[in-house]
Amino acid sequence: MTDANAALRARDLQVFWHPCTQMKDHETLPLIPIRRARGVWLEDYDGRRYLDAISSWWVNLFGHGHPHIDARIRDQLDTLAHVITAGFTHEPAVTLAERLIARAPPGLGRVFYAENGSAAVEIALKMSFHAWRNQGRTRKTRFVALTGGYHGETLGALAVGSVELYRETYGPLLMPTLQAPSPDCYLRAEGESWESHSRRMLEPMAALLEAQHAEICAVIIEPLVQCAGHMRMHHPAYLSGLRALCDRYQVHLIADEIAVGFGRTGTFFACEQAGITPDFLCVGKGLTGGYLPLSAVLTTDAIYQCFYDDYTTLRAFLHSHSYTGNALGCAAALATLDLFEQRPVLDDNRALAAHLARALVPLTEHPHVGEVRQTGLIAAVEMTPCGDRRSHYPWQERRGLRVYRHGLTRGVLLRPLGNVVYFMPPYVTTAEEIDLMVQVAREGIALATAG
Ligand code: PMP
Repeated sequence: MTDANAALRARDLQVFWHPCTQMKDHETLPLIPIRRARGVWLEDYDGRRYLDAISSWWVNLFGHGHPHIDARIRDQLDTLAHVITAGFTHEPAVTLAERLIARAPPGLGRVFYAENGSAAVEIALKMSFHAWRNQGRTRKTRFVALTGGYHGETLGALAVGSVELYRETYGPLLMPTLQAPSPDCYLRAEGESWESHSRRMLEPMAALLEAQHAEICAVIIEPLVQCAGHMRMHHPAYLSGLRALCDRYQVHLIADEIAVGFGRTGTFFACEQAGITPDFLCVGKGLTGGYLPLSAVLTTDAIYQCFYDDYTTLRAFLHSHSYTGNALGCAAALATLDLFEQRPVLDDNRALAAHLARALVPLTEHPHVGEVRQTGLIAAVEMTPCGDRRSHYPWQERRGLRVYRHGLTRGVLLRPLGNVVYFMPPYVTTAEEIDLMVQVAREGIALATAG
């Protein structure tokens, strides 16, 4: 590599401790300093370009440097960047709440803001517990999470996640939670349909809720796709069944749509595919089109009313982040929602998803691919030693990292999760760019699984 990048890289390694990174890796794995980004392309200081096949950690929906979002943020900057939202309010936060409610499944009438996904999850957990407490249901203190789930990395969010390494490492700090088996269809029996497997997985959930509902506040789930947990997918029948179980046993349902919301799975919200309304809907990531940190929890008027009382009853919800409802973030989110109204984005996404599915067909025959699965614009390729769903490569071999390295040499940012190579492209990716990312992934998989 020539090296206009070298100077920044060297300075970086002196001071910047990066997320999700063993920093020692960077002794051999070069960091990529990005100078600018346009559309789906990132560009480094040498002018080398990288196709952002993972939407910069699943946040970017309409490409980098989108003129409409850029302009809306600039306009907002001219009037108000941020103001305290306790005792004060501003137009973008109010309009955004109205527009989110209009887009959400029916029955969600209140919006509480935060600034990242983990914070939204913390808020939903606290609100659920506190709503029960305010109703005198003080025995309800526990949460049910699914195996393979991921909800962020603050301590409450980690406690309801089940990514093994995190649990193992931070376990002693985490509140105890109850776990139910994931409806993850990768684990289905040979010949079983997604729907049948997903429905069957409601049985252990029903047993758990029946036995312990008196002490359970809520069940938390990533609807349709457990993203960080290796892009494992399930059928919407699980969600409708889970909603019914939660109703039967008086347990809240928290839908974490931080990764899957905003059109990613084929509908605006994934819950729509099951026709359900959760008690709490967490959104983040794509909410601002990938521009600014903003998240929100939508909930029902019934939950809101559990907190609404005279001050001296001390029933108010207790949560206050400095940047709650940041005006620039809200402006970016409003611009993002505009884009959904300016074009038939969901139809376009379905066409692009169909193209992606066709491009992936050859990989289904690969001798070291256990499964190719897809929900909307999320597709995943599971690398396995024997090309079946039972065998797996030891994580220590870091085969996904080989795919990542190969991608960089070919100008495509792929960032496998363990042995799972996945695609979560921005919605503005062209069919040709989809072909390129899949082609490069195929090459990477061939290299990573050769010996
Ligand atoms: N929930 C889900 C489903 C996520 O995928 C993530 C982030 N990957 C989070 C919560 C946490 O969001 P953040 O990283 O913004 O805290």
